[in-house]
This record gives sequence, C-alpha cells and structure tokens, in this order.
Amino acid sequence: AAKKQGGDQLSLYSLTLDEAAQNAANMRRTLEKGLKNHTLVLHYQPIVNSFGGVSGVESLIRILDPEQGLLGPAAFWAGLDHHRYARDLGIFVMDAAFRQGQTWQQQGLFLRVSINISAHHLLDARFLSDLEAALGKYPGLAPEQIEIEITESAPLHDLSQAQERLDACNQLGVRIALDDFGTGNASLTYLQQLPAQSVKLDQSFVRDMINDPKDLAIVAAVITASRMLGLDVIAEGVETEAHAKLLAKMGCSHLQGYLFAKPMPGEDIPLWVQHFKGLGLGLPSHSSIDI
Ligand code: C2E
Ligand code: MG
Ligand code: MG
Ligand code: MG
Repeated sequence: AAKKQGGDQLSLYSLTLDEAAQNAANMRRTLEKGLKNHTLVLHYQPIVNSFGGVSGVESLIRILDPEQGLLGPAAFWAGLDHHRYARDLGIFVMDAAFRQGQTWQQQGLFLRVSINISAHHLLDARFLSDLEAALGKYPGLAPEQIEIEITESAPLHDLSQAQERLDACNQLGVRIALDDFGTGNASLTYLQQLPAQSVKLDQSFVRDMINDPKDLAIVAAVITASRMLGLDVIAEGVETEAHAKLLAKMGCSHLQGYLFAKPMPGEDIPLWVQHFKGLGLGLPSHSSIDI
C-alpha cells in the first residue's frame, strides 16, 4: 500500500494487477478448501409467479467456513467458473439440490428447482452422465422439475456443442434458463440458438427501470420477445413493490428478489411457502404451482 501511494503510474498499475491476481488466487483457494472440507452448502431463493403463487426456488452456493461463517459467491467468485473446480462444484450442486427437492416432494411440497451450472461443466464431455447419475439418485424428483441456469456472462466457447448438450437436457425433460440475460454480448444469439424455456432478466435492468427509460425499454423488449417465443421470463433482483407491480403489468411471468425472500436454508422453505401471501402485490393468492 505504501508503494501504491508513492509510485508512478506504471508501478501502480502492475501492483494493482498483482493484487488482483492474488485476490483471484485466494478466491480459488477458498472454493477449493470448501470442496475438500465439505463445507459447501446450498441456500434457496423462492421464485414466485405473477399471480402470487410460488413456482420454484433457485439454489445458490455458500461456504460455511468454520472461522468466517457463511461466505457468499463474492468471496470465491474466481473459483466458480474455473475449469479446475467447475465439474466438482456442479456435481455437488446437482446432488445437494436434487436431494433437497426430493425431500420437499416427500413433504408434499412440489417445487421447481433451478441450479446454476458453469459453462466449463456444461461443455465437459461428462456433463450429461453427471446429470443423469444425479437424477437417477433421486427418483422422487421429476426431470421436468429441474431447471439449469446458464449464465450469459461467461462465454460459451463452443456454441454448437452447448446447443447439443442443452438439447439432450431437454430430451431428458430438464429445462434450461438463460441467466443474467442482457449482460453478455451474445444475448440475442443465445436466445436464437439455445433451446431455453426461460429467460432470467438481469437485475441491473430491473433495478433502474423505474427511473431510466432505456432500462425500461430493454425490460419491455425482453418480455415481449420472450413471450413471442413462448418462454417464461423471470425478473431478478425485485426489491420493491413498485418493481413487482410494473413487471407484472408488463407481462413478466415470474419474479425473484428480496421483496419476496432472501436466499435461505432448504429446511426453511416449507414454512416460508406456507406463509407466503402474494405479498401486497394486489394479485390473487393461491398456492398453485405452474409446472
Ligand atoms: P445469479 O445466478 O444471477 O443469482 C442471483 C443473485 O442475486 C444471488 O446472489 C442472489 O442472492 C442475488 N439476489 C436475489 N435477489 C436479489 C435482490 O432483490 N437484490 C439484490 N441486490 N440481489 C439479489 P449470490 O447468491 O451472491 O450469487 C451470485 C452469483 O453466483 C449467482 O448469480 C451465480 O452466477 C453464481 N452462483 C451462485 N450459486 C452458484 C452455483 O451453485 N454454481 C455456479 N456455477 N454459480 C453460482
Ligand atoms: Mg442464477
Ligand atoms: Mg441470475
Ligand atoms: Mg444475476
């Protein structure tokens, strides 16, 4: 830090790069430790439909560190899409999320379960057998209840391979969602080429749509295009009632965000679902699941 203050432009730059590399290495180590010590856990965030029903949950990875407590992806971001960990992580997530989904099912709670899968795992030759093995382990859960979220922010280097893989997932009955839609530089290509059933509108557009007419136009365009293609639209980062009402009015079929619930441990989901009342959306409340 002392060097940073006194240094010229060049050394400041290289120091920053160095810090960034250190930081990334630390993040990768944090994830590696989590995998090795079995301290990874999944939390689940409800996804509601615009009629006020609960349609599913998204699983989100955390590390329960013995010293630091619960760590979110920000603490190990650089590891999430790293080729070295992508498959082990994906296998953990499939197993934990499907097991939880089957448990809810046995409790009479029928939910769609979304999982995040990195591009590296999707493009790994073993991806489909990993998926089938996990599905086979939890026969109480129908493949139709699973949705795989593929983020747009990490490039799919081999689009035709990705397309084939995702087609095969669809063949199994598993659904595909395009995550963080609008943030990558291939949104429309993905929409055109990949066999998705849902589009997840990134929270950056949702957040500012009330004040920024450009964001509002993008939100409207994504909703319109998705509906024309027969896809669900899930708005991420819905934090206020004003956002929820506007999105529902614009025809957005599904909403997810802190307004409804923050991610929580799986065992808390049944009670949350029981108490969920459509939260002031002014929309009819019913417990139907739209699978
Ligand atoms: P994502 O898949 O787009 O997940 C949504 C993120 O937005 C989650 O952050 C969630 O907690 C947060 N969020 C939800 N509602 C709100 C809201 O109303 N306001 C705000 N400000 N944020 C909200 P989280 O859990 O920190 O995860 C961050 C990202 O990490 C995820 O973004 C996903 O890209 C990645 N990730 C999470 N779990 C996994 C996983 O199991 N595997 C992989 N490969 N990536 C994961
Ligand atoms: Mg996601
Ligand atoms: Mg997302
Ligand atoms: Mg996102």
